[in-house]
Amino acid sequence: MLNFHLPRKSSRILITGGMGFIGSHLTEALLNKDCHVTILDNLSTGSFENVQHLMGHPNLRFVVDNLTSEVVLDRLASECDTIIHLAAAVGVKLVVEDPARTIETNVMGTDAILQAALRYRVKVMIASTSEVYGKGIRFPFSEDDDVVLGSTANSRWGYAASKMVDEFLGLAYYRQKGLPVVIFRLFNTVGPRQTGHYGMVVPRLVQQAISGEQLTVYGDGQQSRCFCHVEDAVRAIIGLSECPEAVGQVFNIGSTEEVSILQLAQRVLKTVNQLDGDGLGSTDDIKFIPYAQAYAEGFEDMRRRVPNISKINQYIGWQPRATLDDILRDVVLSMLPDKLNVNAA
Ligand code: UDP
Repeated sequence: MLNFHLPRKSSRILITGGMGFIGSHLTEALLNKDCHVTILDNLSTGSFENVQHLMGHPNLRFVVDNLTSEVVLDRLASECDTIIHLAAAVGVKLVVEDPARTIETNVMGTDAILQAALRYRVKVMIASTSEVYGKGIRFPFSEDDDVVLGSTANSRWGYAASKMVDEFLGLAYYRQKGLPVVIFRLFNTVGPRQTGHYGMVVPRLVQQAISGEQLTVYGDGQQSRCFCHVEDAVRAIIGLSECPEAVGQVFNIGSTEEVSILQLAQRVLKTVNQLDGDGLGSTDDIKFIPYAQAYAEGFEDMRRRVPNISKINQYIGWQPRATLDDILRDVVLSMLPDKLNVNAA
């Protein structure tokens, strides 16, 4: 039985996917700003562990359910001022292994959110992804650039297409129905609590380095990415949610510090060796794995992915503060205790 008695005076935010990696950091930041936060999460890739340090907070409540539970969603939408819609099937590994779930979750979930939001004219912030730029060849990627996706035979592009549908739908609700909608495209967001289970490279490499396994670099390792600290990303999302001019617009959120995956692996090793006092299990080994073996036959990767962040900078003055060194330090420190606990057991 849901029980809703929230005061109307401060901001009331509904975060879908709030028990996921980014959602948990966003929840914490909003609670620190005295917002009332409701998390709607079906625990598919999120977990209570991500938010356990926030349990019992008087301004926080959890609802464990699917986005497609109409009655629940209707009630939650009626009780908030803003919905931050993070819930989605994410992670290249998950996307490639379960393309049907990916497309259905992303498209039907966003559709359900927009319909509920419209009934109460609630602002919606939709999380999209740099995947929508696909194999774009003009760098850095700007919000209005053309997108270049690959064949439908490759399930990776189904993820990009599903998030593009989310963007089209959100913008259509804004233009046709006047619903306040903001879209933000997250570029490789990383930080403490991110899991490597769904393929994300930083937690995977850090975990491998800490436990003495060889670091798995896919392809030739010359593909590059820009990694943004989750706390910077959260600051950007909140800034956009508070900016009236951002409504009806699409924004990149990401770092511009580009690194090849091979360099990343080397820097992970260096950071782990510096911070892991006992050095137990540390490895210096990197092994190259062909994409077909890592993912699936015919898998296509992006060679580069770099955001142009001048638009968000212009609207809210945002730019990332954390460097890649800061990020690796934070991630390694957050994962080291696990190892110490294992050793102690
Ligand atoms: N990658 C890697 N080793 C891993 C996991 C990922 O070399 O164990 C590569 C992956 O092929 C991609 C990059 O790291 O080129 C970033 O992968 P991730 O899944 O984190 O994000 P993506 O940018 O692909 O969405």
